Amino acid sequence: MMQQYMETKKEYKDCILFYRLGDFYEMFFDDALTASKELEITLTGKNCGLEERAPMCGVPYHAVDSYLSRLVEKGYKVAICEQVEDPKQAKGIVKREVIRIVTPGTNIDSMTMDETKNQYIMSIVFDAGRYGVSIADVSTGDYFVTETDSATKLFDEIYKFAPSEIICNEALYVSGIQLEDLKNRMQVAISALDAWYFDEDLCKKALREHFQVSSLESLGVADYECGVIASGALLQYLIETQKTSLAHLTKLTTYSTGKYMVLDSSTRRNLELCETLREKQKRGSLLWVLDKTRTAMGARLLRKYVEQPLIDKEEITKRLDAVEELLKESISREEIREYLSSVYDLERLVGKISYQSANPRDLTAFKASLAMLPHIRCIMGDMKSPLLKNLYNEIDPLEDLCDLVERAIVEEPPFAMKEGGIIRDGYHEEVDRLRKAKTDGKTWLAELEQKEREKTGIKNLRIKYNKVFGYYLEVTNSFKNMVPDYYTRKQTLTNAERYIIPELKDLEDLILGAEDKLYALEYELYCDVRNRIADEIVRIQTTAKAVAAVDAFASLALVAERNHYVRPKINEKGTIDIKDGRHPVVEMMIPNHMFIANDTYLDDRKNRVSIITGPNMAGKSTYMRQTALIVLMAQIGSFVPASQANIGLVDRIFTRVGASDDLASGQSTFMVEMTEVANILRNATSKSLLVLDEIGRGTSTFDGLSIAWAVVEHISNARLLGAKTLFATHYHELTELEGKIDSVNNYCIAVKEKGDDIVFLRKIVKGGADRSYGIQVAKLAGVPETVITRAREISEELSDADITTRVRQMSVQGQETKGKEKSQKLDVVDMAQISLFDTASDHDVIEELKSMDISRMTPMDAMNTLYQLQNKLNNRW
Ligand code: ATP
Repeated sequence: MMQQYMETKKEYKDCILFYRLGDFYEMFFDDALTASKELEITLTGKNCGLEERAPMCGVPYHAVDSYLSRLVEKGYKVAICEQVEDPKQAKGIVKREVIRIVTPGTNIDSMTMDETKNQYIMSIVFDAGRYGVSIADVSTGDYFVTETDSATKLFDEIYKFAPSEIICNEALYVSGIQLEDLKNRMQVAISALDAWYFDEDLCKKALREHFQVSSLESLGVADYECGVIASGALLQYLIETQKTSLAHLTKLTTYSTGKYMVLDSSTRRNLELCETLREKQKRGSLLWVLDKTRTAMGARLLRKYVEQPLIDKEEITKRLDAVEELLKESISREEIREYLSSVYDLERLVGKISYQSANPRDLTAFKASLAMLPHIRCIMGDMKSPLLKNLYNEIDPLEDLCDLVERAIVEEPPFAMKEGGIIRDGYHEEVDRLRKAKTDGKTWLAELEQKEREKTGIKNLRIKYNKVFGYYLEVTNSFKNMVPDYYTRKQTLTNAERYIIPELKDLEDLILGAEDKLYALEYELYCDVRNRIADEIVRIQTTAKAVAAVDAFASLALVAERNHYVRPKINEKGTIDIKDGRHPVVEMMIPNHMFIANDTYLDDRKNRVSIITGPNMAGKSTYMRQTALIVLMAQIGSFVPASQANIGLVDRIFTRVGASDDLASGQSTFMVEMTEVANILRNATSKSLLVLDEIGRGTSTFDGLSIAWAVVEHISNARLLGAKTLFATHYHELTELEGKIDSVNNYCIAVKEKGDDIVFLRKIVKGGADRSYGIQVAKLAGVPETVITRAREISEELSDADITTRVRQMSVQGQETKGKEKSQKLDVVDMAQISLFDTASDHDVIEELKSMDISRMTPMDAMNTLYQLQNKLNNRW
């Protein structure tokens, strides 16, 4: 047995081998050490002819799924080695084979899969400067291919699909891409495969064979040279690991990365599209607001829409038309949604059917879902928008399949496939006949029991059954002496004896034979039904996709209705004009409609960059994100939270928000900030929307302000970038740019002062803010009173000098200076920053020292003064 184990293990070196022994999967040697640690199970040992006992551990076969999933989630691959012949009939050692390799991207255990998310595996091939990318979800049969020539775009795709596993060629490792960093950041398992997987001829052959086509032209992928290799390698990997039918991968869909809005990873995170920044939860994300879908397929599709907004006006308009119709036809929509709630996850059911792992209960769920289709279709028949009409045509009522399951499978079948009770009466003659034999058998047994009682005079004689002895006659001890000679004793119990007689044996053969035959036949018929469904995979998948889309649009329509969204106009002139915009998530969190709506106006001329100032907590971040989200929502085809919106299409949204360390990749707060700024400035275009919150805060004020200033100059300059930008800052000096650059405008969020406190008005107005009210906000946050008082003192001391004059004198680079007067501004100096550009001379410090009355200073004052003096000397203020 150990020899067999060793030989199998040799072939699956990179996997943990689950080796089936009776009711357990056992692991040995290093696998046992790893698994016992990761799964927290007891490590034992086995004598296997070596000097020392082999480390060993095991998991029971009936609970294997949860152990498997835990290992796979940690990034391991597990090869399942099964007994492939009946141990009773085996001569010598039982034959075993690896029947499947479960990897992080191919674990289809429904208990661990999130039904609202796809589970992707991605294949990346780097060759001659290009990246071929192919993605599959084996649970649904989705299979895509694309290509790109830039590492940044490759990362965008990786973040978009968020795969659980990446396979790649060795060349990707040496292409300079930080795969280790990616591994840590996304917790994705990445492995480079042997070169043969990427052999062009083998890849093409695998694709041709799988799709049964003579040339790749007919698949429409011939132009994707690198992509074809990525898809071929992925397919071969799936064949190698799944070792079962992949018939549900019915088509390879090509897509161009240019078809969708580009969103990099930090933008996805910052805008909290599908999960929140901190808790990583759906609640609090945009998807949380938009997702009112009724099916798992609809939920997955809506997530996809949110993750990849469109950039084509026509496509967006089609979606908006569909949402509008479902919004207006609310009764039909709610009826559809009602029917949808009884539709199971058809995509994943089909996956299971094609994997041959679907059990009889899955088929009844399948039937129940199909039964809803004619109703949904019937309501859809009246829809007029082109997209909904298309979906109507794509929904196949699949009545034949529904009818097949209805005729063949009983109403409430068991989970088990080999223990009968699955096939409906009247579906198959032989099943009916065998079943009759089984029931008649019961009468025959009762008759025999009666006959023997009369013959022997044993009144309480009984015919019973157990798995070990089959049928037997049981006689209690008090009647033992009446047992006739032709009874053969089989077993003695404390108070009874068990016997058999030839007539009972004959009946047993008949009855049990019928049962065995019946179970085998039922299983065969069940598999036949399942295979007949599997033959119709394409029809089912097309229908499932259409149903998912109806669900997603109905959800968007319902949300639009409930949350009072409006249909956005879409323009290609680049003007973003939002009236009374609201933040879709924050408004849901604030009770009683207390959210204050605000306008946004950006265009490609005089209103390209808005510098937004205002106190801490005023609502700057909320305002900027709401603008980005409204644009994004419009581009996925959703209505938007505003009273009116005209959205100029954007090709990318970039956000740079707040400070965050990235210790995992060894980057400091400021380094992360600057890396993000660099990425934005390099990759944004004049059609992009930038949301920049607090650029330059992570370093000294002097450097930070200079960087922020230069960034605004660069962005607003049409020759350099010219992107529409919302730029929030506490560097009030930046508001000076309004007078100097044509396309820059100042806005601020108004607050009202009430003595020492402030009231947040949340209203955005033209002009710049005069102060940050940081100390008031610190007080609100509960910073101790001593610190607040001291901060006020320092703030007052610092406000003696004035740097505004210096900033006002600064010219801007590469821009036509506006000759006009500055717009009406609130006074824009943040007093807390005033002396920051003054450098102290030694003389000043000496003078200050001389004038101090040390005897009247507290130790704390002395320390603070010393600290200030030293800083002055170091010019760090
Ligand atoms: P800081 O400068 O400190 O980062 P900020 O100006 O960016 O602050 P936000 O984080 O946007 O402030 O907003 C603070 C809080 O104010 C939000 O969490 C939200 O609860 C509330 N808020 C923001 N905008 C509005 C609004 N328009 N209506 C009602 N409440 C709002």
